[in-house]
Amino acid sequence: TETLSTRDPVLHAAMQAELKRQRKEIELIASENIVSAAVMEAQGGVMTNKYAEGYPGRRYYGGCEHVDVAENLAIERACQLFDCGFANVQPNSGSQANQGVFQALLQPGDTILGMSLDAGGHLTHGAKPNQSGKWFNAIQYGVRRQDNLLDYDEVARLATEHQPKMIIAGGSAIPRIIDFAKMREIADSVGAYLLVDMAHFAGLVAAGLYPSPFPHAHVATTTTHKTLRGPRGGMILTNDAEMAKKFNSAIFPGIQGGPLMHVIAGKAVAFGEALRPEFKTYQAQVIKNAQALADQLMKGGLDIVTGGTDTHVMLVDLRPKGVKGNATEKALGRAHITCNKNGIPFDPEKPMVTSGIRLGTPAGTTRGFGEAEFRQIADWIVEVTEGLAANGEDGNDAVEAKVRAEVEALCDQFPIYTNL
Ligand code: PLP
Repeated sequence: TETLSTRDPVLHAAMQAELKRQRKEIELIASENIVSAAVMEAQGGVMTNKYAEGYPGRRYYGGCEHVDVAENLAIERACQLFDCGFANVQPNSGSQANQGVFQALLQPGDTILGMSLDAGGHLTHGAKPNQSGKWFNAIQYGVRRQDNLLDYDEVARLATEHQPKMIIAGGSAIPRIIDFAKMREIADSVGAYLLVDMAHFAGLVAAGLYPSPFPHAHVATTTTHKTLRGPRGGMILTNDAEMAKKFNSAIFPGIQGGPLMHVIAGKAVAFGEALRPEFKTYQAQVIKNAQALADQLMKGGLDIVTGGTDTHVMLVDLRPKGVKGNATEKALGRAHITCNKNGIPFDPEKPMVTSGIRLGTPAGTTRGFGEAEFRQIADWIVEVTEGLAANGEDGNDAVEAKVRAEVEALCDQFPIYTNL
């Protein structure tokens, strides 16, 4: 009966402080969201106690009848959401989902072709420090210098030259829609598998506002916690029954042990929420808000990579204001606007400095912000960067304090977790 506050006051205080931070700060990290109380209840529930190695109906442990309900619900809802035949909902994260796909379809030393990190790809698509870059012969494509758009000609050229066994489409900072049909055409021309990693835009796909990876992808992976607004985790989807068997064996016993059944319960709840009509309205607002934010930032004199966004995410090129990504991330943080520094394509600065920040609207839209609020947020970002430009690394205390107070007032108008 002891509660967290008496059992572990230090941890409890950290959680309370984090709740306050989420309530009082504007979250613009493009890969984050604010889950519903129902998702949190499922994830914080009794299924955390259960070992369930194996898959529903075929477990290596007794007592799995109720967790089987949770996993079957998550699988059925995932297949309905993404209009596909098979789903593995056990990956503990997006990285593990990708690793599972590699384990199922590749051998160490095989050639893979993915987007480079500095062009907007993800670490797990063949970046040097990642296992995908160490265990495979990872070739990387990028974007075109003239417009920062995905360079399909380069993908085709590198595919012909290197004959990859797998081509990966998707990434973490790609504001524009990817042409999956074209990627499949290139994959087919060299007999490669096409993996679409839709981690960032899965929620938009689920809402029908971004093209589905299917039927073009042999396999799609995703995280469940970004636009999809579920608990932290990953998932593998396919229409190919033979591949599906391989993915199941690759996740368990290949790279994971007992699945996180409480997280899978949270996934089931989130996918159920995503099937409702309100989710489509929400995702449409996410995109409208991103476009309003990008437009207002450009009006304020900042550049947006590719001149805007089709999705939830944008890359802001800070160079017109003469400030760097790392200092801007810190200055905005002092004003209670949270984002991350991010390299822009062909960035002259080092990865720990950068010329850009990455912004996204999923979390702010969940708390109820519309286009007017996002235009206001853009004005605050411009004010803070100008304060930084005028005063150097430490920023402008007066500007940051003024914006911080206004941010807090806006957050108070759009409260979250009133149940906690
Ligand atoms: N794939 C893409 C495109 C991502 O953006 C991310 C998350 O940053 C991942 C995979 C990895 O997900 P996780 O952080 O859950 O391992």
